[in-house]
Amino acid sequence: MSSEISPSLPSGKLFIGGSFVDALSGRSFETINPATNQILARVAEADLIDLDAAVTAARKAFEVGPWPKMSAAERGRILWRMADLLMQKADEVARLETLDNGKPIFESRQVEIPLEAEILQYYAGWATKITGDTIPARPGAFTYTLREPVGVIAAIVPWNFPLLLAIWKVAPALAAGNTVIVKPSSNTPLTALKFAEIAKEAGLPDGVLNVITGKGSVIGMGLVKHPGVDKIAFTGETKTGIEIMKAGAETLKKVTLELGGKSPNIVFADADLEAAVRGATVGIFYGKGEVCAAGSRLFVEKKIHDEFVEKLAARAKKMVPGDPLDPKTRFGAIVSKEQLEKVLRYIATGKEEGATLVAGGERAQVGSLNGNFVLPTVFDRVQSGMRIAREEIFGPVLSTLEFSDPEEAIAQANATPYGLAAGLWTRDLAKAHRAAKALKAGTVWINTYNRYDAALPFGGYKLSGYGRELGKAALEHYTQVKSVWVDLEG
Ligand code: NAD
Repeated sequence: MSSEISPSLPSGKLFIGGSFVDALSGRSFETINPATNQILARVAEADLIDLDAAVTAARKAFEVGPWPKMSAAERGRILWRMADLLMQKADEVARLETLDNGKPIFESRQVEIPLEAEILQYYAGWATKITGDTIPARPGAFTYTLREPVGVIAAIVPWNFPLLLAIWKVAPALAAGNTVIVKPSSNTPLTALKFAEIAKEAGLPDGVLNVITGKGSVIGMGLVKHPGVDKIAFTGETKTGIEIMKAGAETLKKVTLELGGKSPNIVFADADLEAAVRGATVGIFYGKGEVCAAGSRLFVEKKIHDEFVEKLAARAKKMVPGDPLDPKTRFGAIVSKEQLEKVLRYIATGKEEGATLVAGGERAQVGSLNGNFVLPTVFDRVQSGMRIAREEIFGPVLSTLEFSDPEEAIAQANATPYGLAAGLWTRDLAKAHRAAKALKAGTVWINTYNRYDAALPFGGYKLSGYGRELGKAALEHYTQVKSVWVDLEG
């Protein structure tokens, strides 16, 4: 890793047992800046033998050493210090994230890092509040439950929110007393390594947090199959999630899965149209559309359709891609060449299928940068059978569909194998709550979109996964219950 990228981060190392170490094979791979397609850094390529070392370190830290003996309050203090240090180093970490992912520095510095710190603080507070119950089961017995950590957690993370989605897993896991191995995406491994350095500085004992980088098919799958790993917390594609469940069955892994989506955003005719236009734009174009919950299917009521689409297209056209490091940029570079090609293929498919292109639809040039830039794209007159209305594109491509009857809109919105999120826009309170109940999705936003909070559970219905991250709900997945029965009569 060059010193311009991060002055303190050692180049090409894994983080195991509290130290930056080489991969035993000595192999490494490149991570690329998507805004320039230049090599950003070389990163260690771990193998199964390095994975074994990480599992051994995490297991040792879980069973012996300071972590299991530490008070819950001290665990909470360490998490809080991690939040403080993250905020102190926010400029450097945000820059790393933007260089690695292509997202605007505005998003990484002003939105994501503050949220990451809040999540660490939220779970710091939970550390002292994870409790069992006393249960009056029988006379002559004292019966109670203990809520205990699960053990060694493997957090397998995608490239769209590299540090945020790692922290969604690490923070509740640590609050509950587990130890963790993070496996970031090979596209965006840098901030997880930086975070390991921050955790060490905050006083997290050695081996409690480990970061290994390398191929998903080798070390991701290696973690899933490893008998020394107790639980997999995965975010990524639905097809990878299915593979993980199957492979994890051999060792009966506890698995939580946050998977793909094709989320509906429904605009009723009685909505505040200006707000809904803004919401539809944020819903699809935040994070370049590389957002699992992106509102990629926009349903607009017939009465307002033409006016709405005109406003939407005008707004999309104003969203010009820019240099991700420029604080004024609100739309960055697609994460990789492969992903850009995938997005362009879907744009071509939308045209071939007969949808009407009303904004974008082609690559963009940003100054002299040789990056993966594409214009924010809006298709109108999309039919529900078209591929662009059914498949997750995971890019800045919006499919607009028209509806006449609110019930038909809900039925169409639910007519997808996914169920991650949904949005709806109306001034009618009763209609809003009826629709929120009817939508089959883990999150429903009313008169807003793409909002997240540490305290609010997030996760999928149907093929969008199961288990919940964030909030109190996540702690269920990082703890297990032990019943204790004490005979008082013998
Ligand atoms: P991906 O499934 O290709 O990879 C995710 C992670 O899994 C990476 O670290 C990868 O190296 C690893 N991996 C790949 N193959 C593996 C295997 N066979 N065994 C174990 N690990 C493996 O996903 P991606 O392309 O990085 O991310 C995009 C996807 O993530 C989209 O489908 C998106 O919807 C989804 N996503 C979901 C959420 C959510 O909260 N539901 C959030 C963000 C992204």
